[in-house]
Amino acid sequence: MRRSKTRAGRGRLLALAFLGAAMLVASATASALAAPIPTRLSYAQGEIVPIPASVPHEAGDMIDRRIVPDLRWIAQRYPIYITDGFSGTLPNGEHAGCRGCHVEHSDHLNGLAVDIVPLNGDSRCDGTWRAITRLAHWAEPVQNRPRPPFRWVGYDGDAGHGCGNHLHLSWSHAPAPPSELAQWVEVFPVTFQGVATQPGARSRSRPAEPPPPPGGISTVHSGGLSPRGDW
Ligand SMILES: [Zn+2]
Repeated sequence: MRRSKTRAGRGRLLALAFLGAAMLVASATASALAAPIPTRLSYAQGEIVPIPASVPHEAGDMIDRRIVPDLRWIAQRYPIYITDGFSGTLPNGEHAGCRGCHVEHSDHLNGLAVDIVPLNGDSRCDGTWRAITRLAHWAEPVQNRPRPPFRWVGYDGDAGHGCGNHLHLSWSHAPAPPSELAQWVEVFPVTFQGVATQPGARSRSRPAEPPPPPGGISTVHSGGLSPRGDW
């Protein structure tokens, strides 16, 4: 009897050990998913350029070239299709991007935001959106707390965004008037192998950013109506 009790005890201990190990793995995976992405501030000269063919997009869409490497990296890992990038007036006076679709201080107006839907998807929230949902959670593991370099992520829980609608990603940047280039933009450096993985999230302290959306990000975007359109 004693032996079998001991065996049962050992069995319970083993089960607990397995459970503990499984929980450790799960929490390590979760923290890895939410770990900071190494980022840097790019002070390189910006320019609004056509989105390259390697990043599927609607004809004519443009973007600040400083976030092109990040977009390319994302497009290599997620089946994305960009429906809008820069929205504003080009130096030659022509208009690019969607007209009147974005709010007054939208990051689209500086070419530092993109609207994303699934490649080969449609407006139904079906399986084609699964990868877009994963991308949204990668950029914003916790609602209203986007991981740098992202300034704002619009998806499920944000009015006018989400599965079946679109995912908005914007990059943090120096304040800049509409249709003008920001002095700097925060990016994740992309190496040949992929994202640089060295620890030390940022190379320098962050200068001033544009103010958050009026009323605070959480009140404006967490399910409330946003009649002025997309960010
Ligand atoms: Zn947007």
